[in-house]
Amino acid sequence: MNGSCRRGDGLLLQPVWDMMESRRDLLASPFFPVAFSFTANLLACAPYLLLDAMGPRWPFFHRYKLKPRQAADAGTVARCLSRICCNHGLFIFPATLLGRASRSEPGPPEAPSVAQLLSGVALCLLLFDLLFFLWHLLHHRLPWLYLRLHSLHHLHGSPFSLTAQYASAWEILSLQLMAACGPRLLGVHPLTEMTFFLLNIWLAVEDHCGYDLPWAPHRLVPFGLLGGAPYHQLHHQRFKCNYAPYFTHWDKLFRTYRKP
Ligand SMILES: [Zn+2]
Ligand SMILES: [Zn+2]
Repeated sequence: MNGSCRRGDGLLLQPVWDMMESRRDLLASPFFPVAFSFTANLLACAPYLLLDAMGPRWPFFHRYKLKPRQAADAGTVARCLSRICCNHGLFIFPATLLGRASRSEPGPPEAPSVAQLLSGVALCLLLFDLLFFLWHLLHHRLPWLYLRLHSLHHLHGSPFSLTAQYASAWEILSLQLMAACGPRLLGVHPLTEMTFFLLNIWLAVEDHCGYDLPWAPHRLVPFGLLGGAPYHQLHHQRFKCNYAPYFTHWDKLFRTYRKP
């Protein structure tokens, strides 16, 4: 896939890319990827944590909570935050350093066109969805893999936003590797890659948020292509269904799809 376009095609995104290029020193910092992932994850969780904290005091939002009577206590929130910090410091940081070392070429001067960015992000999401579906199916079908490497993520039968990253080191590193595969294999523009990473983080949090809000992506995208929070919550409760993270087609094809 062509990562950038002729000057003129990418006018809409050029100011964004120029701004990023002007801060190349910051983006090239070894701490940038881990700080980006950590901050994006917490920012994605923040609105849902606020809804959790307000609970029935905000009835407009509370009526969309999948398990209205269940709420994470302060201890659970602290435990999840502590694991997210550990995972970022001990595993994601070294992994991103290794990734940086194997890829040092600077980005192109031109921004991608909007069409290139959207198609690149969609392809990266589809590839990540397939890789995670296969990884997830394997880690549920083989008891040793499930007990040693994936069961930690299932500690919360009713997930909430912070549990998106509540997982073993192996699972976190696998997720990082699978997310990095798409942009590398497809050769997308760095701006497309960053947009995909942001969307991937947000969709993972949205999957675990515990709310079925009317503006959730699975309600906006037609034909039931996306599963969303109700679909992934069913996986946390029944284990043997809904293995794909975002799209529903692989579960439908493998007959592991269960309607929430
Ligand atoms: Zn699972
Ligand atoms: Zn989950």
